[in-house]
This record gives sequence, structure tokens and C-alpha cells, in this order.
Amino acid sequence: MSRILRHSAALGICLLGAPLFAAAATGAAAAPSAAAAASAPEAPFDVIIANGRIVDGTGSPWYSGDLGIRDGRIAAIGKLTHARAKRRIDAAGNVVAPGFIDMLGQSEYTILVDPRLPSKIYQGITTEITGEGNSAAPMTGHAREEAAQTLEHYGLKADWQTLGEYFARLERQGIGINLASYVGATSLREVVIGGENRPPTPAELDRMRALVREAMEQGAVGVSTALEYAPAPYASTEELIALAAEAAPYGGIYATHMRSEGDGMVAALEETFRIAREAHIPAEIWHLKVAGKSNWGHMPDVIRRIEAARAGGLDISADTYAYTAWFNDMSAFVPPWAHDGGNEKMVERLKDPATRARIVKDIKTPSAAWDNEWDEVPGPESILIGVVKNPALRPLQGQTIAAIAKSRGKDPLETLLDILVEDNGYTGCAVFGMQEDDVTLALLQPWVSVNNDSSGTSPEGRLGEEHPHPRAYGTFPRILRKYVREEHRLSLEEAIRKFSALPAQRMRLADRGVLKRGLWADVVVFDPAAIADRSTFSSPNELAVGMRWVLVNGVPVIADGQMTGARPGQVLRGPGYIGPPRPMSRPPGDPCGGPQGCGKKSL
Ligand SMILES: [Zn+2]
Repeated sequence: MSRILRHSAALGICLLGAPLFAAAATGAAAAPSAAAAASAPEAPFDVIIANGRIVDGTGSPWYSGDLGIRDGRIAAIGKLTHARAKRRIDAAGNVVAPGFIDMLGQSEYTILVDPRLPSKIYQGITTEITGEGNSAAPMTGHAREEAAQTLEHYGLKADWQTLGEYFARLERQGIGINLASYVGATSLREVVIGGENRPPTPAELDRMRALVREAMEQGAVGVSTALEYAPAPYASTEELIALAAEAAPYGGIYATHMRSEGDGMVAALEETFRIAREAHIPAEIWHLKVAGKSNWGHMPDVIRRIEAARAGGLDISADTYAYTAWFNDMSAFVPPWAHDGGNEKMVERLKDPATRARIVKDIKTPSAAWDNEWDEVPGPESILIGVVKNPALRPLQGQTIAAIAKSRGKDPLETLLDILVEDNGYTGCAVFGMQEDDVTLALLQPWVSVNNDSSGTSPEGRLGEEHPHPRAYGTFPRILRKYVREEHRLSLEEAIRKFSALPAQRMRLADRGVLKRGLWADVVVFDPAAIADRSTFSSPNELAVGMRWVLVNGVPVIADGQMTGARPGQVLRGPGYIGPPRPMSRPPGDPCGGPQGCGKKSL
């Protein structure tokens, strides 16, 4: 699919250059003959967005103009008053900008539950990148076991094993926005090694590397890690360099939730730089933050270190969701050793009094050896229960550990661990562990783009029963409201650049991210005075407001403020993609046993 699209893309630019002004028509593809071009009526545009303030994504100041869209692409920008169009949108008083790119979208499963992803499109998101450590594939062996609870929670059946098969599943179903994915190192480890805390054997490492090549050839955009969540922390830096080095020749990127975002931040940055340097690969630091009260105020030092790495020639960049609370698995409060063997083993250890006592002791002991979140938070009032799986615990959603402990008459840390046991380790929580000055400073850096770090969701149906971090609905509009309109920390044009051209450049999406003739028509139209988040920590399931039109590949998914239900999204396969998805030919647990082996390197 992607190959075909790329060919048509090249052709499309020739075709699109021709019809607007006959005199400007160039190239053999413009028309069968000059006479025909002169006499045939100009094909109408599918959509004209007229009279808007065009913020083109590059950071340049807005300008007035009309945008003409045909066959999914931007066909003209200029004065189109007399041009014919099947649909004409009056954007007077509104901003017309490229669709927003979510650098960490997390929707690989929920897009199968509600392909429209209302929480995303009402923010203006038209493309998301996903696959943080755990990716949708490879989906075999222990990776399949570990994904089982999440899949069951969403009522899904994983009828794919490889990334190629997952992408094919998305295309069969149709998706509301564009989606690209990394292959996650956690998944690779789970498939080949399981959940154990040990290094791979040389043969196992070879299998993991082969799986990276296979994923890159099926369209992964790179290799990712989430080094805070077991079994990922069991990987050495050398193991990660080996995996990243496989993705590099394909044009892949190494993206990371670093090993520490708190007390071990400096070492974690150094590890990221080393991986970029030794694997010869660009690195993206996901959700850049300094976590933990003892680290507040350290963002200037973090920025200085990243800028020094960039000055030294390493291609390092980052992204942020710009809230002072993060959201993750509550099991991250449990030290990595207690996750050895996987989630079931962790829950067993929490049920065993002696082992639990050791876990509690480690949690209460400050350490830079692991990201000790209990040590990082100001107190149990800073931990808010978000998503639970056990229906009996649903009343706890939206409550803090401090409040629950009080009502249960128990110690806060014991309460947290009790909830993990009662919810079989599934619970997700918001943690207020950052400082606003650090958050703002990160957002203002020119190489920092934006992520939602939340799966696409909806106020309705099964997804609406969850209690997510408000960023799930609010990240991008909140930046426009708070940092642009209210606090004047960012210009509108700079915010839009962070939402569009910067991430497109980062992800090598050369035909998106800017409003320019010939590029895909991912376009948003919004009222700059009204755009705002409505989602809060106490009431998160609220769609953002102010987004009037959102077009994905030229097709409205929001039309005059209303969701259309259209599914015009594309799977955006990475630069290593070499062909159609491979057949499901491998037995589970034998990822390289198929007729085509573990993939053939094309570069
Ligand atoms: Zn993360």
C-alpha cells in the first residue's frame, strides 16, 4: 500500500501542479494535449477552505488565503474566489493549519475499539506515532501473554502476530487518523526471552535483531524503549545499542522513555546519547521531564546537556505533554526486581508477606538505581487512581491514594499495594510529580514537539468508563489556550510548528506537516479565541472545544464541529518498508521459523 502511495505521490505533484492555472501547467503528465487543457473545464476542487488565517506550520507568520484540496492533497493555495468546489468552507476569523502530529499516541489497541478516536480529532490530531516499548507486534509468546489483560479489557482479540499483519488489520477496518508505529524493545524481549531478569544469549540477541529487521521492513519507524517498565530495565545499554543499530540502516529512529526521569536522569541522558552515537541513529526522548521533588528546577541542566549533545553532532530531540502530572502503570511503584517473570509473578510477590515487606523496604529507601516514584512524589495525595480493570474498584477512579487510605483506615503505601493486588496489577494512575517551571521550559525549546502519551478515547461506550489523565483529551488545545493565548509564552505560529512541521520532519513524513501544494491535506480549522481543553483530573472525559473542521487526507472527520465518523486515515509505514505484509506463517514462539526466515536486509 505504502509503495503504491509513494508512486502516486510523485505522480500527484505533477498532476496537481497543472490544473489551477493553465499557463503554469508543466510536464507530460499535466494533460493529454495543450488543446484539451485549454478547452476542458478545470476539475472542481473537492474542498476549498476560504478566507482563513493560514498558519502553514513552518513558524512563519500567518497570512490570508484560500486552500484548495483535491484527491486528498493540497492542490492550490491562493485566491480561489472563482474556482469551483464540491464543498466550500468559510474559515473567516479562523486559523487554518496543518493537522497536529501526536509524537506518542498509544492508540494501537483503542483504535480497534473506536477507530474515530474522538479524543484525538477534537484536539486537531490527524497523525499519531505509537509503540512505546510495548508495540502491537511482535505479538507472540510472552508478549501475547502480557498483552492479554489489556486486550481482554478492551474486548479485543489479537488476530495478528507481526507488525505487517497488524497494519493490514488496521487497513481492513479503516482508521480515523493516520498511524505509524515503532517496534518496541520490551515486546522483542518478551517474545524472545520472556519476563526474566537476565541478559539474552548470543542466539537470543540475534533473534531480537532479526525481529527488528523484520519489523523495519514491514514499516516500523524505528526501535523504542520504555526502560522504566519491566522487563525493559533488565536490558543492558549494549543490548539496546545492538537493537537500535539494526534499525539505523533503514532510516529508523530510536525513541525512548528513559531509564530514569528522576534521580538517575543524568545517567539516563548519557545512556541515550551513547545509544545514538554508537548505533548511528537519531534519538527521540519521549515526554521530557524532571520527575521528583528533589529534582525540581533541574530542567535547565537537562536542556544544557541535550544542547551540548546536539552541538557535538548527535541528532537528539524530545517531546512533552506539558502537564505537571504524569500517568502510568501503578505497578511502576514496585521495584524492578519484583517484576521478574512478569505481572502474575509480581502480584504473587505482593501477596507473600515476607517478599512484600522487602518490596516496601525498597520503596521507602531512596535510590538512583531505579525510578523510585514513591520517593519522587510530594505524598500520597499526589497519586490519583485512573484506570482500573476490576469493576469492583471502579469507585476508586478519580480518588487519591491519600483519600482511599483514609477511608480504608490503612497506611497509604500498603493501600497502593493492596489496590495493585485487588486489580491484578492492572491499575493506571496520574502522579503529580513535576514542577510548572520545568514543564514550561521544556515546552519552549525549539527542538521539543508534543505528545498526548494517552490512547485515543471517547466519552462514550467502553472507553468512556475509564478515568484517563486529562491530557488524553486536552494536550494540544491546552497549549493553545494556556501557553499561547493566556500566558503568551509561545506565539501561535511557534506552537503550530511544534504540532506539525517539527514532528513531521522528525518522523521523516516529508509529505505532511506543512500547508504546501502537493502535500497530503491533513488540515485543521479552529477558532483561536475559543480553542480550549475541557478535560480535568476530576472530570477527564470531556472533548476539547473550538475545533471547527479537521480533515485527514482531505476528508473531514470533523465537519462544522460535528464528528463525521469517516475513516480516511492511512498507516504510515517507515522508510524501511519493502513490500506487502507477510503471511502469518510462523508458529508462536518461533518468530524466525517461517519460510522467509527473519527478514532480508535490503539496504
Ligand atoms: Zn512513557
